[in-house]
Amino acid sequence: MSAPGTSGPVGPSGSPGSSGSSGSSGTAATGDSGPQIAEIVARHTIDVPGFPREGIVFKDLSPLFADGPAFRQVTDAIVASWPAGFDVVVGIEARGFLVAAAVAYATGAGVVPVRKAGKLPRETHSASYDLEYGSATLEVHADAFFTGQRVLVVDDVLATGGTAAATLELVERAGGSVIGLTVLLELSFLSGRMRLAGRPVHALLTV
Ligand code: AMP
Repeated sequence: MSAPGTSGPVGPSGSPGSSGSSGSSGTAATGDSGPQIAEIVARHTIDVPGFPREGIVFKDLSPLFADGPAFRQVTDAIVASWPAGFDVVVGIEARGFLVAAAVAYATGAGVVPVRKAGKLPRETHSASYDLEYGSATLEVHADAFFTGQRVLVVDDVLATGGTAAATLELVERAGGSVIGLTVLLELSFLSGRMRLAGRPVHALLTV
């Protein structure tokens, strides 16, 4: 298993569903929007052992994004899980952008990208965090938010929580007010929620 603080795709080759889809274990799928939504995410996830390197099971959510009705159902579930609303959706590069754009369109909110270092053209805030080997840096435009704007952060997978923690820090340094984090899939054995203690986290599927 990858060490805590690791970012990028992580997970032991023996993790749940590693031999096929995440919903193939025979037990009911669970998640914060209930078993039906969890099952949709599970059925549209392909586990890819050994990608991008040995010992990792990559959770490929491409089939979920490619299935229009399923993607709409999970998008609607995300919107329903934050009834008090939000002004802006932050998507974390790169798959988070897909989720963020859909949620933003469904609610009339705007989208702000949090990007890997060196991609944004104007003044940025940066946050670095530890990886298994070295570190990674994420950036957001310094003027991305009005002070106090209510921000929902979204990503595809929550693993160790390093990426999400750095993103929440960036949003707040840029003046946004984080209402919470939504992920499509949470790898509970990597304890990302613990790293985000005190933050509202909503995962549509927890494995
Ligand atoms: P972490 O910072 O450890 O929570 O890693 C989360 C980020 O890495 C997210 O942006 C995910 O897209 C990606 N990620 C981590 N582990 C995996 C995995 N097993 N499958 C797919 N993406 C992953």
